[in-house]
Amino acid sequence: MSAPALQTGLLIDGAFGPAASGETFTAVSPIDFSALAQVSKAGIADLDRAVAAARRAFDDGRWSGMQPTARGRLLRKIADGIRARAARIAEIETRNGGKTIANSLNEVDSAANVFDYYAGAMDKFFGDTIPMGASVLDFTLREPLGVVAAITPWNFPMAAAWTVAPALAAGCTVVLKPASYTPLTALMLGEIALEAGVPPGVLNILPGPGAALGDRIATHPGIDKISFTGETTTGAKLQKLGADSMKRITLELGGKSPNIIYADADLAKAAAQAVKAGFGNAGQSCSARTRVFVERAAHDEFLAAFAQAAQAAKLGNPLEAATEIGPLVSRGQWESVNGYVQLGLSEGCTLVTGGKRPAGLEQGAYYAPTILAQAGNGMRVAREEIFGPVVVVIPFEGEAEAVALANDNDYGLNGSIWTRDIGRAMRTARALRTGMVSINSHGSASRYGYLAPFGGYKKSGLGRELGMHALALYTEVKNVFVDLED
Ligand code: NDP
Repeated sequence: MSAPALQTGLLIDGAFGPAASGETFTAVSPIDFSALAQVSKAGIADLDRAVAAARRAFDDGRWSGMQPTARGRLLRKIADGIRARAARIAEIETRNGGKTIANSLNEVDSAANVFDYYAGAMDKFFGDTIPMGASVLDFTLREPLGVVAAITPWNFPMAAAWTVAPALAAGCTVVLKPASYTPLTALMLGEIALEAGVPPGVLNILPGPGAALGDRIATHPGIDKISFTGETTTGAKLQKLGADSMKRITLELGGKSPNIIYADADLAKAAAQAVKAGFGNAGQSCSARTRVFVERAAHDEFLAAFAQAAQAAKLGNPLEAATEIGPLVSRGQWESVNGYVQLGLSEGCTLVTGGKRPAGLEQGAYYAPTILAQAGNGMRVAREEIFGPVVVVIPFEGEAEAVALANDNDYGLNGSIWTRDIGRAMRTARALRTGMVSINSHGSASRYGYLAPFGGYKKSGLGRELGMHALALYTEVKNVFVDLED
């Protein structure tokens, strides 16, 4: 596979360059395991240099002190730059991460929308005046939080925009560490930001191993906030390490989201959508609805339709427009997913479909959409995030049991409810302990998702991304009390 020329250096203080150690690592394509690029590998010295640059850019006010509308104009230029290169970014995203080209184009479009949204938000984000009587003026200021370290995962690399855009809009400066599997499009974002005129040091980008850089990021005196998207255990570790220096933190973590199908639902639609909700992005989505609870009266009919729809999904080369499901991100992920399927079978599940490499796709990290029936909610395949195309199906009887089963999990990110009964839909939505719920849809994070808060209850995270909720989390509130007495 011939890869186009790519930016592969670290972005520090407005310039791309090699790591201090001179070390690099290989970005690989899971489509055929070919090498795409040698990427500079950041170490602690590079991290320290990037944080110092971000600190300077924050403290000297070149960004935090910029008039908010002017800052917004630069963000809008980033959005335009993303759109101008959308096809190229999406192609790289697909080659590097294995997601389908349609999925990558959506992600890139969403990233541009997120920059546009925050470009227009900051000059409309006011403090308050607080009534304390005629002799006092009391008001609040929303001030930028400081230097933000953004650590992002490989499953939606361009969703780095979810952190970078609100942080920059608020006047923060950023050190972005993309996932090691997928560093390439983050570096393209850095190029676009420089071209847009974002000043040196405001956005620094450091591909490099999280395991080696993480502790320093969490304890670095120059970093004010961590925004982390990834596994729950890693997020918890960062929170603990950051506690001594009282780092602000946003955590977007794992999920094991329920998909509740009541017997009165449009079963054909629910089954077709369950395929997208469970197997989209090859199941490597924090929002994936991987526990399907079906009311017993509709269980067999739904399961048959779901299996048929899963088998009809087109797997293959993600660069081809018709492909609906591409490979997993790596060989390691393939092994991990397959291990879970074998575990489920040994725990007593029935394999309805999948459970192996799909026929005809002998190269690459492909795994067939897999449905496990006869699953118990206490089995590990029903409790743990598999992060692959594996869904368990569990029957229930009535509203109370649906809610109890759905809530009986450590995670609480997302959920779907399928019913024609609006009252039941609303009662169930309220009862779910999840940060997001979709009714007769799985679309909470879809096309206009950037307008609404995204995040989880319980072990799915802390804080929210997107919408105005996220912007608030990149600011501090200062209260100013003025005594008006003569
Ligand atoms: P990881 O937690 O392994 O990695 C995420 C990021 O953290 C990567 O950049 C990684 O770097 C870095 N990292 C790894 N170890 C450390 C460490 N000790 N300290 C600091 N950073 C570290 O998760 P995955 O990449 O496997 O991503 C999948 C996970 O992300 C799933 O659990 C998924 O649910 C979650 N996720 C949640 C979302 C949400 O919004 N709630 C959205 C998307 C994903 P490196 O790549 O170098 O290891």
